[in-house]
Amino acid sequence: MSEITLKNVSKKYENGNFAVREFNLDIHDKEFIIFVGPSGCGKSTTLRMIAGLEDITDGELWIDGQLCNYIEPQQRGMSMVFQNYALYPNMTVYGNIAFALKIRKVPKAEIDRQVHEVAKILEIEHLLDRRPSALSGGQKQRVAIGSAIIRQPKAFLMDEPLSNLDAKLRTQMRVELAKLHKKLNTTIIYVTHDQTEAMTLASKIVVMKGGVVQQAAAPAAIYNHP
Ligand code: ADP
Ligand code: ADP
Repeated sequence: MSEITLKNVSKKYENGNFAVREFNLDIHDKEFIIFVGPSGCGKSTTLRMIAGLEDITDGELWIDGQLCNYIEPQQRGMSMVFQNYALYPNMTVYGNIAFALKIRKVPKAEIDRQVHEVAKILEIEHLLDRRPSALSGGQKQRVAIGSAIIRQPKAFLMDEPLSNLDAKLRTQMRVELAKLHKKLNTTIIYVTHDQTEAMTLASKIVVMKGGVVQQAAAPAAIYNHP
């Protein structure tokens, strides 16, 4: 269960520029929210503020009834998935997926059970002994998603997770992400500039421009009435 609310959230940089201005949004449990809009419109900054990777200049971020502006990223229950995978190059696939549980000192047998369960969902069981350098882009992204799943987050925050993949793989992973969202039954907040991804994956699309939300509605409402 998760409810995420952004109330008049703004991000202003030292140079006086607003990356995001008075952003308002209620994100309900299990929604698949997609931020779209031109490059530089504030999508990543908004996602990073929810994750806690970027300070909020003004406004309030609430997660499950708790004001989270000053809560450490690790305490927010969010899992980020990045475009560039962000895997540990010296660890195996197993080590990468297991990492979050290792630092939580989860018993080895339980880690083993969960790593295999996650690897099965993502169909990467045969890759567990490999290092990231020996994986394709699509495989790396599965591992990154696996590392995120094992944390059992309140929500997944995904920043252009498919944009480094070639067109064919991107289509395939898009279909898999839709299935994964159903299977995990969880909230996903997702940034893309790919209209097809937004139309096919989102339960709600948030259209941004110049740091401001222009529209927030279901895909059909956005793309049928421009
Ligand atoms: P998007 O993800 O939509 O491409 P971003 O959230 O990355 O957009 O950026 C929003 C705006 O914030 C851009 O105009 C960008 O130039 C600006 N910005 C990002 N980081 C900084 C920074 N460190 N200092 C000043 N401006 C920044
Ligand atoms: P490394 O330190 O070589 O990168 P990992 O971090 O991947 O190794 O693995 C850490 C622990 O997980 C090791 O103790 C290892 O026995 C166990 N392990 C690694 N791969 C597997 C696997 N495929 N199945 C079960 N256990 C594994």
